[in-house]
Amino acid sequence: MKKKICAALLIVMMTVASIAGCGNASSSAADNSAETVKIAYLPITHSLAVLEEAKELEEQEGIQIELVKYGSWPELLDALNTGRVDGASVLIELAMKSKEEGIGIKAVALGHRDGNVVIVSNEIETAADLKGKTFAIPHRQSSHNILLNDTLKTVGLTIDDVNVTELAPTEMPSALAAGTIDGYCVAEPFGSMGVELGAGKVLYTSDELWEDSVCCAIVLTDSFIEERPDDAKAFVDGYKTAGNNLDKETALEVSKEFFSQSEDVLEQSLEWISFDDLELTEDIYNALVEKMIEYGISDNPPAYEDFVKNDF
Ligand code: ZN
Repeated sequence: MKKKICAALLIVMMTVASIAGCGNASSSAADNSAETVKIAYLPITHSLAVLEEAKELEEQEGIQIELVKYGSWPELLDALNTGRVDGASVLIELAMKSKEEGIGIKAVALGHRDGNVVIVSNEIETAADLKGKTFAIPHRQSSHNILLNDTLKTVGLTIDDVNVTELAPTEMPSALAAGTIDGYCVAEPFGSMGVELGAGKVLYTSDELWEDSVCCAIVLTDSFIEERPDDAKAFVDGYKTAGNNLDKETALEVSKEFFSQSEDVLEQSLEWISFDDLELTEDIYNALVEKMIEYGISDNPPAYEDFVKNDF
C-alpha cells in the first residue's frame, strides 16, 4: 500500500510540476494587434470557458484572444492590477479585493458554476471530525474559504475550531497524502487529484453547501472596456457562447489539450462543474457578499452596480 501511494505521489508531483510551470507567464499568441484581447488565466478547469473561447475565435474573423498563463494567483493579480493584460479568469473574491483597493476592473461573467469539493482524509467521517484539524485553502479571499466555513457551520463549528493554512493548489493533494493536512478545498482538478490518489474523499460538493455558488469570474479592465467597447462586447458575447458549447465531452477535449492530468482525474473533476449560463446576476452576487461579510472575509465588498457589468 505504501509503495502504491509513493508511486502515485510521484506521478502527482510530476503532474504538478508540469501544471505549475516555472511560475512565469507564458503566452499562446504573440500577436499584439489592436484586435487581440490579452486574458490571464491559471491552468485549472475553472478557466475552461475562456480557453474554449480562444479556440473558437481562432477559426473566426474578428477579435483574437491571447491567453497568458500564470503559475499562481498573486502573479496573475499583479498582471491584472498593473494593466499588463486586458482581463483575467480569476477568483471573484480576489478581484473584489482589487476593486476595493481602487483598481479599475469589472466582472463581466462567471467563470463557471459549482465545481468545487471539500476533500478530507479517509479518517474524517463527518464535518465534526474536523475540530482541531488542519485544513488548507488557496487564499483567504476565496470561495474555498467560504465553503470551509459553510462545512463547519453544518455541525455548529466555526473557523476558530480548525487550523487554517494557505497552500499553493498544486501542493494540496500530496500534503493530504503525506498527512500534513487533514482536508482541503481548492480549484479543480486538484480535488479530483486527491481522490484519484486515494489520499482522501469528497465530504461535500459545493452545491450541497451553497446553492448557485460563485467562485471564479471573468474580469476586464475599465481601460479596455472604455477604449475598446466593441472588442469588449465581442469578447463577452464569445465567452458566453463558448460556455454554452462546453458540454462534458467538449470540456474533456479542451482539458486534455491544455492540461496534463490523466483522463480519470479530468473526467471526475468535470462531473462537478458546469459552464452554461455564466451570467453574474445580482441575486447570486449579493448572496456571495452576505457570506463574505458573515465569515469576515471582507468588511466592505464592492456594490453590484459598481463592480459587475452585464449590459454589453
Ligand atoms: Zn473557480
